[in-house]
Amino acid sequence: MAFKQLKNFINGTFYEPHSKEYLNNFNPATGEIYSQIPSSGIDDINQAVKAAKMAFRSWSQTSPEKRGRLLIRIADMIEQNLDAFALAETEDTGKPIQLSRTVDIPRAAANFRFFGTAIQHFASESHAMVGQGINYTLRKPLGVVGCISPWNLPLYLFTWKIAPALAAGNCVVGKPSEVTPVTAFMLAEMCKNAGLPNGVLNIVHGSGPKAGQALVEHSDVKAISFTGGTQTGREIAQKAGQMLKKVSLELGGKNPNIIFADCDFDKMLTTTLRSSFRNQGQICLCGSRIFIERPIYERFKTEFTAKTFMLKVGDPLDEDSFMGSLVSENHLNKVLYYVNLAQEEGGKVLTGGKPVRLRGRCTKGWFMEPTIIEGLDNECRVNQEEIFGPVVTLIPFETEEEVLQMANDTEYGLSATVWTNDLTRAHRMSEQLEAGIVWVNTWMKRDLRTPFGGVKNSGVGREGGWEALRFFTEPKNVCIEY
Ligand code: NAP
Repeated sequence: MAFKQLKNFINGTFYEPHSKEYLNNFNPATGEIYSQIPSSGIDDINQAVKAAKMAFRSWSQTSPEKRGRLLIRIADMIEQNLDAFALAETEDTGKPIQLSRTVDIPRAAANFRFFGTAIQHFASESHAMVGQGINYTLRKPLGVVGCISPWNLPLYLFTWKIAPALAAGNCVVGKPSEVTPVTAFMLAEMCKNAGLPNGVLNIVHGSGPKAGQALVEHSDVKAISFTGGTQTGREIAQKAGQMLKKVSLELGGKNPNIIFADCDFDKMLTTTLRSSFRNQGQICLCGSRIFIERPIYERFKTEFTAKTFMLKVGDPLDEDSFMGSLVSENHLNKVLYYVNLAQEEGGKVLTGGKPVRLRGRCTKGWFMEPTIIEGLDNECRVNQEEIFGPVVTLIPFETEEEVLQMANDTEYGLSATVWTNDLTRAHRMSEQLEAGIVWVNTWMKRDLRTPFGGVKNSGVGREGGWEALRFFTEPKNVCIEY
């Protein structure tokens, strides 16, 4: 079988890895290898960082208007090639094509468009000292920065880092997930065609421990923007800390979805199906612990279980599949391990819990039923550890105090959702929930100007809006005496 063999993008040119070795890339819906990616290491990273350093002199002096125009052109080109990008994202991840087409790829284009315009409005502060003088702040780009992204929303999260870094005048070495490399490769082609100067964006493929680690440890890389698991984030923070390198870490979650009896039940139910099982539950913002106020517990359980049972798990290329495959065999096994553990911990599977065997081209794919579990307390491992799959637990509660205590009783603090029509309670809960993002009567609503990130073990720093542009710049104060 002829595989599509991807290449690294360095200094505007596509290169084989120095090792000449490649890693297999699977289509998780068919279980078959369909492309290969460079198994890059320190030599490839060195080459990319050198190119980025050379390009920085000119790119950092390019006007924000010109940088912005280029980023907007890239956004346009992604949109013009929406179908090709969406198909590639679906083949790489197993997510439904409809999701790639309406969420992942449009949001990737929106990242470039947003930061292409934002940089033209980015201003810095001045502080007058009455009768004495004035301070003003210059915000300079950092230099070469590293962007490392995960597999669940590949292009969407890769561009969420790259776009603000480039807009602010940095040059980037990016390392996408080895499991989902194809849309990053396509992006490289697009940036070349859009006229992005050579070396401004470099994309090196390979594994985290080899290519990713070499990027983190390179002394000319001034900052690392990382999205991925908490354990990997911890390792990166340790290495970056020793080198006094700036880091932004967007990590795992175990998000509570809190449902009060006074909520708009129908809207809540429809949204909770999405917040539980969209992208096969592989979104860091999915609400995996569902807390339901006792008076509506039985109604919610019955209706939610019935609707979940009806969700279509199918070929991701079918327009009506609600769920596609999980991203890899390893990941499917990890999720199934937790379903087993839930039963050992005393939980009852209300629906799902098993792999799905499809017919046709997907017979060897890594599909799984959407799964609901009840009967577990909040302290057990299944309710404390991130599963990152189509598995949710139901937990009843009696009072606001009790649910707050349980919602906050986890090492994570990424997002939380609250369903209530009591305005005062919505504010009170939002203020007390230990999370970087709280949604009230909605989920995954996105405004690119808002700070995005987690507290506790869910992350360090914020992405989005000015936060991202501040991360990718270094403030310098200039003080002038009258
Ligand atoms: P991961 O295993 O931590 O990997 C993330 C990225 O880091 C990949 O590109 C990976 O490379 C690379 N990497 C691995 N080890 C590395 C090392 N020692 N040094 C440098 N880079 C290294 O995470 P994942 O399994 O891809 O993604 C799932 C996790 O991401 C979940 O925990 C999820 O909650 C989290 N996530 C968080 C957010 C957020 O915004 N907070 C958003 C999405 C996902 P390879 O995989 O290519 O080997």
